[in-house]
Amino acid sequence: MDPEPRTTPSRHHDPGVSLARFTGRILVVCPRCGGRALVVPRPGVAVPRYYGELLFQPRRLACGGCGAVADRQPEVSGAGLVGAVPGGSADPFFRRPLWLQTRCAGRVLWAYGEEHVDALSAHVGARLRERGGARPTGAMFARLPAWMKRSDQRAEVLAGLATLRELAGRTAPGDRSDAAYERGDHPRAHRSLYFRGGPYEP
Ligand SMILES: [Zn+2]
Repeated sequence: MDPEPRTTPSRHHDPGVSLARFTGRILVVCPRCGGRALVVPRPGVAVPRYYGELLFQPRRLACGGCGAVADRQPEVSGAGLVGAVPGGSADPFFRRPLWLQTRCAGRVLWAYGEEHVDALSAHVGARLRERGGARPTGAMFARLPAWMKRSDQRAEVLAGLATLRELAGRTAPGDRSDAAYERGDHPRAHRSLYFRGGPYEP
């Protein structure tokens, strides 16, 4: 293993982080009150050994504002579990619109939670981007849309990310972003299955 390269404000190392990594805590629009709700692993669920496992866990949606609670079990297919598919502006489990959405450079910028916003900010703000040696196919940074990586839009994207960071701290229905609505951009399922040995992607 190579030593972990340093990340500084002007030099960013992309370790091949997948979007799954940020699915441990997702801020969504509450289905009942329209305020901020959280999607997290069900209480008592074991801490995953790797990030991909997060997509196969039972989930709970909970709203601190109105008390709404919903649970979701992963789908079962034969001997395995069907993984949730991250991507698009809805959470991969309940398919609620993400709370962190804002209009930016003619598009909609979205994130799952604060940690995701921080990771995107570090990446977009970097002057020099490096890529890690081992990159899984789900590597988030390699798959960012081109408009987020354009240097002439960097300031605008960073401002959008600052807006998302501020939204993360707001919870009331009246704080909902005008971009935080369903837009049907969920990715097609690709049937990732979980067997005893770990995730399996045909
Ligand atoms: Zn609510």
